[in-house]
Amino acid sequence: MNAEKRAEIFRRLRKANPHPTTELAHQTPFELLISVILSAQATDKSVNLATERLFPLANTPQKILALGESGLTPYIQRIGLYRTKAKNVIATCSLLVEKFGGEVPANREDLESLPGVGRKTANVILNTAFGQPTIAVDTHIFRVANRTGIAPGKNVVEVEKRLLKFVPEEFLQDAHHWLILHGRYVCKARRPDCPTCLIRDLCEFKTKTKADVRSVAR
Ligand code: SF4
Repeated sequence: MNAEKRAEIFRRLRKANPHPTTELAHQTPFELLISVILSAQATDKSVNLATERLFPLANTPQKILALGESGLTPYIQRIGLYRTKAKNVIATCSLLVEKFGGEVPANREDLESLPGVGRKTANVILNTAFGQPTIAVDTHIFRVANRTGIAPGKNVVEVEKRLLKFVPEEFLQDAHHWLILHGRYVCKARRPDCPTCLIRDLCEFKTKTKADVRSVAR
């Protein structure tokens, strides 16, 4: 894909949604961190249902530590992998208090030292809580980057590096959310909505769906 096509794709995504953000409800970097840890292999909706009850009572590392694992579990037990996530949340809160003064660190190395926080989660926090132009490549972004030809790659790190290289600077800060939302609601895994997609004339996916086609190979 050439540079002009990429720029036009992001111009259109920006025009359609000038201020994209995460669908995880949060007020602070700490709330976002806990929500992202809880969201692995779970829907944002299930996480929001849990945190809308949890955060009014406990939205700091100290308060979640006071709840303890057994006190935290009832709030998150409808979320997949909740036992492991409860352990990670408690261990993360402990480290935040012991090493970082109860604050969420704003750099990759310290974030990735927290239990339950990998490269993708660190990128989400750096981008959404701290305004850094990072891109967290999840399953949606991986699919959209490959299908469209914006930044094809064999694995998430390759796609991330190419996106950081190819996405024009003016779009880097919000590219993460535009691509996730596009993948979640339009360029869906099983049947992308190509007929109504606002970038269909720029996208290089070879087997775009037509209005009357009910399924398409990935
Ligand atoms: S045209 Fe189809 S494959 Fe291309 S980005 Fe849009 S929905 Fe995805």
